[in-house]
Amino acid sequence: MTKTFRAIAFVMSVALLSSAPAGMSARQAAAELYTCSMHPNVVDAKPGQCPVCSMTLKARAMTPAEKEIVDFFRAYDAAFVAKDMEKLATMYAAETTVYEGGGINRGWKDYRDNHLGPEMKGFENLEFSHANVVPHLFGTDGAYVTADYAIKAKTGERVTDGGGLATYTLAKDAGGWKIRHTHTSAKRRATGGGPNQDRGGR
Ligand SMILES: [Zn+2]
Repeated sequence: MTKTFRAIAFVMSVALLSSAPAGMSARQAAAELYTCSMHPNVVDAKPGQCPVCSMTLKARAMTPAEKEIVDFFRAYDAAFVAKDMEKLATMYAAETTVYEGGGINRGWKDYRDNHLGPEMKGFENLEFSHANVVPHLFGTDGAYVTADYAIKAKTGERVTDGGGLATYTLAKDAGGWKIRHTHTSAKRRATGGGPNQDRGGR
């Protein structure tokens, strides 16, 4: 093998190793977060400008714990799309609280039996994903996570096509990270979508 060929082969293998899994944004797969050197509280999952001082955000590698949390949400999205309630059950603490669209579910069983479970049964053609997942760690076993979410589904004649912002509070125990609390807010639409249109609260 010539030196040049070896170099090309090496570059190609690195490119293959670092290519994003299907459905993931390449940026998030790069395992980097973007912060402002002047405003350390500004953290984003994608390149851009600081909203406070307009400086270009600097990339930094995720810590192992941050990477774990981003992977947690990748697994969450896969379980959600697969309607895998058993897997989802392992991702919520028993005492979880879910705030959504002005309503509250208290505990995983309440959320499962009175909210998520019935919703999942009705969903057809379900698409669901988180993006811009930014973990904010408190020590080694606590974190809050901000993210965007998008959802598309049909439930009978009703069409859900929306998304919005989500905040998750996570706590880590022997079984890994678990959702202790979550609060989602669906995006406002400029025009009403009609009686069968849902903004994607979930
Ligand atoms: Zn700044």
